[in-house]
Amino acid sequence: MIAVVAETKDGLARKITLEMLAEARRLADAKGGGLKVGAIVLGPLSPGEADRLASQGADRIFHVEGAALVSYAPEAWAEAVRLAVEKAKPDVLLLGATAHGKDLAPRVSARLRVGLASDCVAFEWGDGGLVARRPIFAGKAFARVAWSAARPQVASVRPNTFTPSAPDPSRKAAVETIALGDVKVRARVVGFEASEGEMADLTEATIIVSGGRAMQGPDNFELLRKLCKVLGATLGASRAAVDAGWIDHSHQVGQTGKVVNPTVYFAIGISGAIQHMAGMSSSKTIVAINKDKDAPIFKIASYGIVGDLYQVVPALTEEFEKALKE
Ligand SMILES: Cc1cc2nc3c(=O)[nH]c(=O)nc-3n(C[C@H](O)[C@H](O)[C@H](O)COP(=O)(O)OP(=O)(O)OC[C@H]3O[C@@H](n4cnc5c(N)ncnc54)[C@H](O)[C@@H]3O)c2cc1C
Repeated sequence: MIAVVAETKDGLARKITLEMLAEARRLADAKGGGLKVGAIVLGPLSPGEADRLASQGADRIFHVEGAALVSYAPEAWAEAVRLAVEKAKPDVLLLGATAHGKDLAPRVSARLRVGLASDCVAFEWGDGGLVARRPIFAGKAFARVAWSAARPQVASVRPNTFTPSAPDPSRKAAVETIALGDVKVRARVVGFEASEGEMADLTEATIIVSGGRAMQGPDNFELLRKLCKVLGATLGASRAAVDAGWIDHSHQVGQTGKVVNPTVYFAIGISGAIQHMAGMSSSKTIVAINKDKDAPIFKIASYGIVGDLYQVVPALTEEFEKALKE
């Protein structure tokens, strides 16, 4: 079995869960021999979500329930995954390389005493089981990673790398409930504060508009917020803008910020330092706006506009607004 640790929010599966299910399904079908896909769900699940997980590729659902799972508590969640693994006996265990998964995956692999390949972007079957591909040296190179004989092979999966399958409502999954007993919890997440109201999370955004040092101050980010509003995009930033205090760190893209993988990434007044590109170079389409025609960002851009952002951005916003109205 290939098991996916479902990531949920308010009882609903997040996009990364559907992405992992799609890849797990593809791998299971490629391997053949009736290899199954399992979804491990921790804590509350909204009505209808089990059916949705089935329609997205799961054959079996392992739902761990317990008072300790109401909000994220590392010890309880790692123990819950261990219990589900004991029951499901998967060959492969996938978790999201999200803020949450980056905390959980190493704890799970340590508890299971097996190896972890983190932030993977591709998988294939090799002679000894799964082989993963993961970026190294801030995205400058890729490593192929294999595991020793211990099972399951645990991997975390970079968000926005795989595309969720079209749901197939005829697919059904058996749901098994597992009770989590008492777990000593020393730390627990007690609340979340949304950083920017209506915008999607950077790691889940389809379109990102990012600004750099050329924004010159917090006020000019309004230009980018307008463009975000028209496009339904999420606002990002370079570290230079964050370090200057113009925008919160939660918007930072790059090696010491978030790793993003949107369909379209606008890099506006951003030079393209290696540490910034480490967080966005795998975006499907990159649009760079920079007044320096030799800026390194143009080397990886799909489309480049050499010009002053203070002229280009308002003009683009106006044109997008017109085009999208039509
Ligand atoms: C350990 C480490 C970790 C780091 N982590 C990160 C990270 O996570 N994310 C990150 O972003 N950086 C990170 N950095 C910093 C990184 O090295 C760069 O300093 C930073 O990315 C530069 O930001 P920038 O492109 O906005 O600024 P700059 O490099 O100063 O570029 C500004 C760009 O704006 C252009 N410009 C100026 N005016 C205009 C205008 N009017 N119109 C159009 N273009 C204009 C300029 O031509 C220039 O290309 C890290 C550095 C280190 C050492």
